Amino acid sequence: MKTFFPFNQLKDISITKKLYFVIGTMAVLIVVELGTLWFSIHTLSAVRALVSAEGLWSKAQKDAAYQLQKYRYSHNAADYEAFQNFMSVPNGDHKTRVELLKPDFDIAIARQGFLEGRVDADDIDGMISMLRRFYRISYISKAIGIWTAGDSMITKLVIIGEILHNEISSGHPSEEILNKIASEIDPLNVQLTQLEDNFSLTLGEGSRWLEHIILKLLFVVALTVEISGLVMSITVSRGITKGLKEITRAANRIKKGDLTDRAAIFARDEIGKVALTMNQMTDQLVQSNKELGQFAYITSHDLQEPLRTITNYTDLFQEDYRGKLGDEGDKYLNSINKATVRMSNLIKDILEYSRIGKNKVFESVDCNKIVNDVLHDLETAIQESNAVINVGKLPVINGYSELRSLFQNLISNAIKYRKKDQQLVIDIGASKGEDEWNFWVKDNGIGIENIYFERIFTIFQKLHSQKEYPGTGIGLANCKKIVELHGGKIWVSSEPNIGSTFYFTIPQIT
Ligand code: ADP
Repeated sequence: MKTFFPFNQLKDISITKKLYFVIGTMAVLIVVELGTLWFSIHTLSAVRALVSAEGLWSKAQKDAAYQLQKYRYSHNAADYEAFQNFMSVPNGDHKTRVELLKPDFDIAIARQGFLEGRVDADDIDGMISMLRRFYRISYISKAIGIWTAGDSMITKLVIIGEILHNEISSGHPSEEILNKIASEIDPLNVQLTQLEDNFSLTLGEGSRWLEHIILKLLFVVALTVEISGLVMSITVSRGITKGLKEITRAANRIKKGDLTDRAAIFARDEIGKVALTMNQMTDQLVQSNKELGQFAYITSHDLQEPLRTITNYTDLFQEDYRGKLGDEGDKYLNSINKATVRMSNLIKDILEYSRIGKNKVFESVDCNKIVNDVLHDLETAIQESNAVINVGKLPVINGYSELRSLFQNLISNAIKYRKKDQQLVIDIGASKGEDEWNFWVKDNGIGIENIYFERIFTIFQKLHSQKEYPGTGIGLANCKKIVELHGGKIWVSSEPNIGSTFYFTIPQIT
């Protein structure tokens, strides 16, 4: 599968660093998410604060209008003072608005304006940043437009107040003039109420729009955090699992004796290093096996010579002195004879084992012919065991001459490991698979327990007593080597006291 890792080279860094990378990235994304949340909450609360500032603004404007109407009849300077006091709220907000729209805006003046407008000191900075940041957003710019219109009406109210105050302070106020001036207050008040309503509606819509946007934004950020965290974790853990699975796979193959297998290296992290070390170890093992094979070959080859001398002299000795040395002497001679036979079999088998694949010649092999030859060679043993041997139709295949030795080992084992009290039947056959030939050699002998099914193919493994079933423990290791030389597999299926079937496959090579 194609890696999801953001940068391909990151797959080569150590697992610890990969984990740090994932956790680090997650932490950064969570900080981004929290930042977005913080920003959203602040912006929304600034909008809410602006709405409540507008509430204060309109209440003060209404109270101011009321005080002005009261002053017109009471002519009491305290009422005019109260009017001016109430007017300080819209005037303060006006100061802030004008300052905010200046390119070289002074935050201190803007703050002071809102303070005069009785805005809570804690809300001021948030409101100022929100207005500066979003003044281009339609809802905010519309609200500022309404605010500006409201301010110009407030200016009118101030002027009306001044004219009224001048008329009353003149000492001889004209009722007619006072009535005329006061008649302008209510229409202005109505107009201002409309503007105030519009302002609230616009900000209400704006805050709903903003909430909507913020929710979407938070959803997208949260989704990004979750998905990227998930993708990174899956990618890192897949990388680890893939590497470990590959090492386990190769180790199992190597354990089963396939020394040609190597673990694929997917990354240069710790797992990659383990795979590399295991591959190097296997190379070393192959090399040692080779050297060991050579050593076995040379020593067994060199042992043949002195052994031949011992055998020859023992034969001579037996011919000349049998019966003359007494029972004890004959017993010793027999023992020497048996030991030399065993030793020469062992040397022969070791030599054969080390020779497999050495001078391999790929040729057309008629399996019928080689099985017949083997049966001919084993004629004495077959007669002694009174075996019934059924040979099916065997193919002519492309392979190495060692195939003969393979059949030889399997058939002679079937004869050797027979049950003494039962008619021995051996079936030899083959069937054609998709890309290979499947062969079997089946007997009804003493059988093998399933815990030994793999072990018997390892050199020098013997399950049965040496006295009853003499052997070297090399035959099946030979068979495995020969089958694997062809790229095939060999295995056994058996039940103690029922019999064994040895199967092997030989790929069809052209
Ligand atoms: P050996 O020289 O002892 O026959 P092999 O490598 O041919 O060595 O076989 C290994 C062991 O597998 C044998 O010692 C025997 O215990 C067991 N074995 C092999 N073939 C058979 C069989 N046909 N039936 C039962 N046991 C078998």
